[in-house]
Amino acid sequence: MSLDFDIRSAIMVGALLNTLIAIMLLIVRKTLPANFQNSLSWWWFGLLLQPAGFVLIALRGHVPNFVSVVLANMMIAAALACFAIAMRMFTGVRQRRAYALILVLLAGFFAIFYSNDLLSRIISLSLLHTLLLAFCARAIYRQELKITRVSHVLAGLFVIGALSMASRAGYHIVSHDPIVDIFSMRWPTILSYGMGGLLPIVGTIGFLLMCTERSQKDLERMASEDPLTGAYNRRALAEFGMREMARARRHGIPLSVILIDIDYFKKINDELGHAAGDLALIETVRRLQKNLRSEDYLGRMGGEEFLVLLPDTDIQQAQVLAQRIREEFASHPMLLLEQHRSITLSGGITLLSASDHIFDDMLRRADDAMYTAKVLGRNRMQLDKTIATM
Ligand code: GH3
Ligand code: MG
Ligand code: MG
Repeated sequence: MSLDFDIRSAIMVGALLNTLIAIMLLIVRKTLPANFQNSLSWWWFGLLLQPAGFVLIALRGHVPNFVSVVLANMMIAAALACFAIAMRMFTGVRQRRAYALILVLLAGFFAIFYSNDLLSRIISLSLLHTLLLAFCARAIYRQELKITRVSHVLAGLFVIGALSMASRAGYHIVSHDPIVDIFSMRWPTILSYGMGGLLPIVGTIGFLLMCTERSQKDLERMASEDPLTGAYNRRALAEFGMREMARARRHGIPLSVILIDIDYFKKINDELGHAAGDLALIETVRRLQKNLRSEDYLGRMGGEEFLVLLPDTDIQQAQVLAQRIREEFASHPMLLLEQHRSITLSGGITLLSASDHIFDDMLRRADDAMYTAKVLGRNRMQLDKTIATM
């Protein structure tokens, strides 16, 4: 196939676009959340290095070979290494900067070692680029967070990049193409320069989308979470409560809640200090959570008061759970700042009834039952009296 355009000019245009993208990123960088700044910086270095390396390649013959061959190839390898580090920083996958450095040095070594053997140089460097691009894709797939559609797209881009570099190496290994020229109009050459020009642009869009997606998730989580214990906050509980009420009615299944309050919590604060009080709250959430199923909701209503929302759970099952929790707390003292402290709970248990309009109706009955538990001496789980008399 013969295409009628000048590869050197195409490389220059690609490099110009990539540089413009780098400038754009520099301008908008500060508007992105602080926790992405480091990984964006690495991405940005890559965005600068990559077009610079390509420009030097396009200048082959016009600048010293050391610059156009050795330096250019090291810059391109370094750019891909920067992308890989940026990705790993973002996804929390362990960065292997020493490996990255070795691969960049290796690019320089291949460029020097094969300075008079273009075929071997293209093959070895293409394989090296394949490896670096595969590292970028792996950073996304190895992360512990859920892999979203946006991250699939970005990882896909790296995979396509890696495949095109591998196919360039493969082409030169198996074909006996007599024309080995870095500006030849062969498809592997066009493919690899095309990828070189497109990857930073599309990759930057993908990366920015990934950043905004992540910060959106963080904001959603912060809006529904109690910062001290990580349990849901009151606002989130109200939302889940209404949703579960509707679902229980739709499917004709029971819905129970247990409202739990720590007994004499003020004494813990007064005697051991506020920090110990905080630890007790964190440990309380940990113990409660341990007793729940994945479909249950645990939230902190405020202070030392917690709510357990139990979908598809009848009142007997809720009572059994409440007693189990109460006994566990009563029989296992907490270790708070090197002091063992017995902590007991009082709770009110209720069930969704036909007359409940809003979630607060249920909560009010659970609160009344809890108050009764306090009056009756604490360390008790009290059933809502309207249910007890049914
Ligand atoms: P009762 O058995 O009747 O529930 O008594 P109590 O002492 O547990 O209840 P009270 O409502 O009198 O005190 C609750 C205390 O919880 C008062 C408040 O200072 C403390 N508190 C509320 N939020 C926090 C918090 O986030 N951290 C800590 N350490 N203490 C908190
Ligand atoms: Mg209390
Ligand atoms: Mg309280």
